[in-house]
Amino acid sequence: MTTGFATLPPSADFRLTRARAPRCLVEAGGLAADRDGLTLVDIAVEAGRIASILPAGTEGLPGGPAFDCDGGIVLPRLVDCHVHLDKGHIWPRRPNPDGSFMGALNSVMADREANWSAGDVRARMDFGLRCAFAHGTAALRTHIDSLGKQIGISWPVLAELRAEWAGRIAIQASPLFGIQFALDEGHVRDVVAAVKAHGDRLFGCVTYMIPELDAALDIVFRTAIENGFDLDFHVDETNDPAARSLEHIAEAAIRHRFSGKILAGHCCSLALQEPEVEARIIAKVLEAGIAVVSLPMCNMYLQDRAPGRTPRWRGVTALHELKAAGVPVMIASDNTRDPFYAYGDLDLIEVLREGTRILQLDHAGTDWANAVARTPAAIMGLEGRGTLSPGGPADLILTRARDWTEFFARPQADRSVLVGGRAIDTTLPDHRELDHLKGMRAGPGAP
Ligand SMILES: [Zn+2]
Repeated sequence: MTTGFATLPPSADFRLTRARAPRCLVEAGGLAADRDGLTLVDIAVEAGRIASILPAGTEGLPGGPAFDCDGGIVLPRLVDCHVHLDKGHIWPRRPNPDGSFMGALNSVMADREANWSAGDVRARMDFGLRCAFAHGTAALRTHIDSLGKQIGISWPVLAELRAEWAGRIAIQASPLFGIQFALDEGHVRDVVAAVKAHGDRLFGCVTYMIPELDAALDIVFRTAIENGFDLDFHVDETNDPAARSLEHIAEAAIRHRFSGKILAGHCCSLALQEPEVEARIIAKVLEAGIAVVSLPMCNMYLQDRAPGRTPRWRGVTALHELKAAGVPVMIASDNTRDPFYAYGDLDLIEVLREGTRILQLDHAGTDWANAVARTPAAIMGLEGRGTLSPGGPADLILTRARDWTEFFARPQADRSVLVGGRAIDTTLPDHRELDHLKGMRAGPGAP
């Protein structure tokens, strides 16, 4: 058991003094920010909630137990709006043969057919949730592969895990299938039934350029409107500039006067458009009210990969241009140790660190912490999450880093995570716990 570097007072009521918080995440007035956008504060915790956030050293406060953060950065517990719990950790039995997108797609399909029993899915999803929890995640949205027999297997498991994890991680799920399956009435009926029985009023699919794209999107939007669903898409995860399904989604949203929330993930090929085309698509995305999540680690892993050739492109969407236009933007984990991404651990501090490097979020404003906190909480409809708010839960991540260069220089593996004002065990589950699953290790004597 470890609770990180911080030794908190053994009391339900205490103060965290001299904590540095991103100003953009603090719901309190009268706070100045430094050049990193950080503000030095004292945070009072009472009975598991944040009682007040005041400038550090504010006089006239009652004494009592306190922990001196010594200028270390404090964050709210974070929000991961795009993950794949059901695919996670299958790499040992089903590696990507060549690191390509098609290699990932085919490997996952084969593994799903062969191995995704309820027990297998449950063990890997629960493992992922324990990783996310230990790293300091408060809420996440997972996609659920929703094709054929898998619909009846994965969705009930998801519902069980959502209930078991209530109070620790808020879990949402969105169905995942290729857009062409929207043309199959029986398929849509089965997925809608699963979402109604076990889901979160969320619907969606993977979009790419098929001849019937607009007709299929009409079905998706009509289904969402009839059932009161929000929408979540995987969009244009390719380096082919001819892939412009994002524009078709925006046009469909406008055509249907869709009033629910829409989240579009990836949108890689947007970054490879001619500037005027990119600007036109972004304008439509803004008009349609679509939010965009970039998955920088997975994109850099899969995109622009070819044998014997050094990659020239980082694979990420035009996130700065989207943000400048006023589109809500965020970053998230995506895959973990599966054929779409060989690494990852559902650690949003890693995502923010790698996202900062891959997308060059540094030198581009000081409010990017929103991208793993306030903004995804809003798209997920989780009021009060992803911020530091008086009256809100004392769900916090404490670090020793005093500025962003210290924060991003190290993995912050000694972080302390508070849930309801109490430090949790941040010990990560051992990968060996999954060795017993079918096909995971090659046999006796395997490492
Ligand atoms: Zn994804």
